Amino acid sequence: MGREAKQCKQCGREIYFDGICVSCRAENERKEIQDLSTQEVEEKIEYICANIREIENWKETYDLCKLLIRYKDINTCKIAEAAWKERVLRYQDLYKDAPEQIVDEMIAVLMDDNTDSGTAGRLLLCLAAAGGEKVFQTFLTLEKQPRKWQEKLYVNPSVYATYGGWSYDGNGTFRQTNFGKCYPMVKGTAGEKEKSPVKIGRKTKENCPHCGCRIVNLMEIDGRDPRLDFLGIPGTVKAKCCPNCFPYEEGGYCRYEIDGESEIIPYEAWECENYLGEDGIEELAGNTYVLGDTPVPLRYAADWEGGSSVGGFAFWIQDCEIKMCPDCGKPMMYLAQIQWDTVLDNMEGNAYIEICRDCRIMVVMHQQT
Ligand SMILES: [Zn+2]
Ligand SMILES: [Zn+2]
Ligand SMILES: [Zn+2]
Repeated sequence: MGREAKQCKQCGREIYFDGICVSCRAENERKEIQDLSTQEVEEKIEYICANIREIENWKETYDLCKLLIRYKDINTCKIAEAAWKERVLRYQDLYKDAPEQIVDEMIAVLMDDNTDSGTAGRLLLCLAAAGGEKVFQTFLTLEKQPRKWQEKLYVNPSVYATYGGWSYDGNGTFRQTNFGKCYPMVKGTAGEKEKSPVKIGRKTKENCPHCGCRIVNLMEIDGRDPRLDFLGIPGTVKAKCCPNCFPYEEGGYCRYEIDGESEIIPYEAWECENYLGEDGIEELAGNTYVLGDTPVPLRYAADWEGGSSVGGFAFWIQDCEIKMCPDCGKPMMYLAQIQWDTVLDNMEGNAYIEICRDCRIMVVMHQQT
């Protein structure tokens, strides 16, 4: 039984099996999809429609559909029609372009008291992906006049809505919870990082009062770069945290100033040992990721090996987690994700950053398997 180190045949990284590493495999898969012609994409959509039931079992059709949405941002209208006909509700994102008639039919099933809670839960997610005024109004109605199946759901419809990138506050006012554009973080040089409007892992001179670890700005974002106009941030903001503590917390909050330093909102620490140490900080700060030149589809980063990105949809390893702003109590907006192992070798999972621009608060979160 050899756990002996081998090398990825593509990038040379150390792995423990013959062949190529997970990240090279994901990259090859991405290129393959990106290189498809319009004609080939159409054929694949036909194929998915003809084999739509496989999606219920997370089979090949599911993988293909997901890749086409991630990398080609395909219009899913036809797939949604095929899926609804067979009542395939497993994969909500395929309903993102569902035609109005299907949305109406789904709403009708949802409003029925006799719908079973499992189906209703799936329908809430599919409708959240479809979005639109009718869906929003339906969710509000369900909050005020719950249907019988809602007794068995653990969370309110407003939480289901966040999977589609929107929600509403306690007054029923609509809130977008995702930004409408996405940029990937790509490998650059140390010099390029200095000029990049988005930087991952910047050291500060502070140390954490709980564990002694050096405080970092997990991400610094200069919203004045024309690529980042969609963020509506008129300067540089810094998501400050203790990178050693916050993975153990429910969320690490900070107050930011435009073009100023951020201040961590005090918390009771759950874990106080400094695992990361100064070596970890150096490794994190030493990454040379820079903001990509061109936008990518909104769900580009929303899967394993999705990498780090700004805007669009996150890859939630556990549940989608849109925090409520501690100041105004309204849903925050998902801003960015960092795939840990791209910046820290021994770290698993993802870090997520959310923002309330009204109150100038950011939160950093962590999820892993
Ligand atoms: Zn590799
Ligand atoms: Zn700490
Ligand atoms: Zn707020």
